Amino acid sequence: MLTFHVITLFPESLESYLESSVIGRAVKNKKIRIKFYNPLDYARGKPRSKKNKWFYRQIDDRPYGGGPGMVLMAEPILKAVSKIKATNKKIILFSPRGEQFSNQLADGWLRSKKAGDIILICGRYEGVDARVKKILRAEELSIGPYVLTGGELPALVVMDTLARRLPGVLGKDASVEERRLAGRDVYTRPETLLFNGKRFRVPKVLTSGHHQLIDNWKRLRQNQIKR
Ligand code: SAH
Repeated sequence: MLTFHVITLFPESLESYLESSVIGRAVKNKKIRIKFYNPLDYARGKPRSKKNKWFYRQIDDRPYGGGPGMVLMAEPILKAVSKIKATNKKIILFSPRGEQFSNQLADGWLRSKKAGDIILICGRYEGVDARVKKILRAEELSIGPYVLTGGELPALVVMDTLARRLPGVLGKDASVEERRLAGRDVYTRPETLLFNGKRFRVPKVLTSGHHQLIDNWKRLRQNQIKR
């Protein structure tokens, strides 16, 4: 079973999405498994200040060489990863400077033997101490040319993309159809939608029952995304 091991300071921010709809069902049907590891649980305690002896668990610190923001410390993340029992694992470190994620990349992973366990390390703040990448030989991955506040959304994007490409997750018919003709405009009932006093009709060809014409129409309007 494809298992995702998500290293995140905010596991609860992912949960409702992963429990819903197709992904929730994939988990229930044991197509995928998702485990969380919080670096906070592996952080060392530190007193708040000389006066205030209350301990807190430290997961971030100031960047060497100066600069704004805080950097996630290597040790709590490395310790969390070391708890993961998997021999063939792929380790991904989310970074806006990483390789761009895509359908092709996802399929490559699914084909490779290493796809059994995928570790997703979610950065926060100014990112993760660069020694994590080196020690774990992690691959840096970006989900697109923009900067987010954390790696949690990228983790959801990667898990969602991979899960729906697994056989049986979308259902047999749906997945076959998806590969052939994804990315086009779609319509459902009613055939004529009345909105703000105007009528909006479904393209006639789709209600014609003429399969050849319908197929041609779908092909022409297919998006240019690679599948
Ligand atoms: N100045 C930092 C910005 C870090 S953003 C840098 O250039 O790396 C905080 C975290 O969010 C990152 O460590 C990464 O895990 C995640 N993140 C932000 N944008 C992302 C993107 N487009 N793709 C993947 N992860 C991203």
